[in-house]
Amino acid sequence: MVPLIDSHAHLNDRRFEADREEVLARAREAGLAAVVNVGFDLPSSAACLELAGAHPFLYAAVGVHPHDAGEVPPDYLERLRELARKPKVVALGEMGLDYYRNLSPRAVQEKVFREQLALARELDLPVIIHDREAHAAVLGILRKDGLGRRGGVMHCFSGDWELARECLELGLYISLAGPVTYPNAQKTREVAARVPLERLLIETDCPYLPPQPWRGRRNEPAFLRCVVEEIAALRGLAADEVAAATAENSRLLFGLPGTS
Ligand SMILES: [Zn+2]
Ligand SMILES: [Zn+2]
Repeated sequence: MVPLIDSHAHLNDRRFEADREEVLARAREAGLAAVVNVGFDLPSSAACLELAGAHPFLYAAVGVHPHDAGEVPPDYLERLRELARKPKVVALGEMGLDYYRNLSPRAVQEKVFREQLALARELDLPVIIHDREAHAAVLGILRKDGLGRRGGVMHCFSGDWELARECLELGLYISLAGPVTYPNAQKTREVAARVPLERLLIETDCPYLPPQPWRGRRNEPAFLRCVVEEIAALRGLAADEVAAATAENSRLLFGLPGTS
């Protein structure tokens, strides 16, 4: 079984509270070599770090999600900087814009996104970007401000091939999650078939977005192989090829051990 890397999970979500250790054990049994566990505000980022400290195959990303941008304390950037310097932090994020739910005012979302991009450039860390219904604004900011040397990933990519092409031109990786297995997700399935293999990542975004067989239930890293199999089928490749390539891409982007 070729090992998999889940590039985006929320294992500190309270839906994992009752059985987190079992979920992690199932992830190991399912061949997960590493999981990047992602924060969405300061407390959840600290929790990601703590969990990563207890499990060798877990890594942490620290950041402020656009939903939470309106609630950050005035000194959040300094506190994020401190968290980001701890061992096992492999990226800043998730950060970005969400014009679908608009839980924070757009101007605040943009400010907090840009400040975190600047912090990533300063700390030389890759970024994990959340973009929902905000494609033009996200691309505009990335073009104006610039990604750092370490680049980043468009997580749970939801755009069409045209947007994917623009993201690739900016040097971003494209990460696909459970929706690629949904029969009506035509745009995402087209992207899955066309993104160059060396720029593709996979993720669960668990507990959200379970692959088709588990829809309506809680997602978890052990379900990730289903995403790999779907992408492989769409590309006419063996699942092991997609597993190996996406794992190597995650290792390169996040600087995880085992990079060849
Ligand atoms: Zn997200
Ligand atoms: Zn997420």
